[in-house]
Amino acid sequence: MSVQLTSVGVSYRDRERSYIALSELDLNVSAGSFVSIVGPTGCGKSTLLNVVAGLREPSSGQVLIDGTPLRGLNRSAGYMFQQDALLPWKTVLDNVAFGLELQGVRKEERVAQARDWVHRVGLGGFENSYPHQLSGGMRKRTAIAQTWIRDPSTLLMDEPFAALDVQTRQLMENELLSLWTGSGKTVLFVTHDLDEAISLSDEVVLLSAGPASRIVGHYSVGLPRPRNLLDMRRLPQFREIYDAVWADLRSEVMMTYERTAATGGSGGVL
Ligand code: ADP
Ligand code: MG
Repeated sequence: MSVQLTSVGVSYRDRERSYIALSELDLNVSAGSFVSIVGPTGCGKSTLLNVVAGLREPSSGQVLIDGTPLRGLNRSAGYMFQQDALLPWKTVLDNVAFGLELQGVRKEERVAQARDWVHRVGLGGFENSYPHQLSGGMRKRTAIAQTWIRDPSTLLMDEPFAALDVQTRQLMENELLSLWTGSGKTVLFVTHDLDEAISLSDEVVLLSAGPASRIVGHYSVGLPRPRNLLDMRRLPQFREIYDAVWADLRSEVMMTYERTAATGGSGGVL
């Protein structure tokens, strides 16, 4: 499904302050494309995904899903976070089937589909393991199966692989691409890792430093598909795109750094 944001603004208000996270933000994601969102820390990437998920109503503007204004939860979307949402007291099989339980699918049907998905993500033999018995990569595979089993037409992924070691992360990225290829699903992928953004996507969009972030760059990634990410990063075309995005991202990162330094903020800037 296509996702369109027109003039979206989001403000957070609490007792002490009002903060404009996004302002007049326009974005068009065509159906079936893989788009990554990059930008300095705190610029509003998670906020943007929450708006598309229907978890946060924009203060202004609107979200259109296949041309229809979104009201309430976006039921065509599946969400994946950095921290997976596995239930510690359920087995791998039950965690995967749980995605369907919420949709009211019959037990035998859920279990049959969950078995199939557990195999598709390479976890055959671990059906009866519990999350604490799994490695980080295996937990991620379980979370992917749990999300994909519901067959969402849009996937919202918020730094899903950020907590994994580099090798595991590359394997998971490759697996995500093989699942996605030919699926027709639209992916909005947030990452602070520019390598990851470029190697996975059709397009990378850059959000400006907050407050009042907007999209300040669109970079189309013309690298051929199917892609093998393990080799991808050495191609000269890859370096070219990387340098172009980084030149712009760098200035947004520096702006965030200067703003947080000025207000006594601390911590990383990416
Ligand atoms: P990112 O994901 O790019 O790091 P977020 O979307 O999480 O950024 O946050 C954007 C800005 O909005 C940040 O400055 C953050 O502090 C602020 N913010 C996010 N959520 C809330 C909230 N619930 N209440 C108040 N401010 C928030
Ligand atoms: Mg975030």
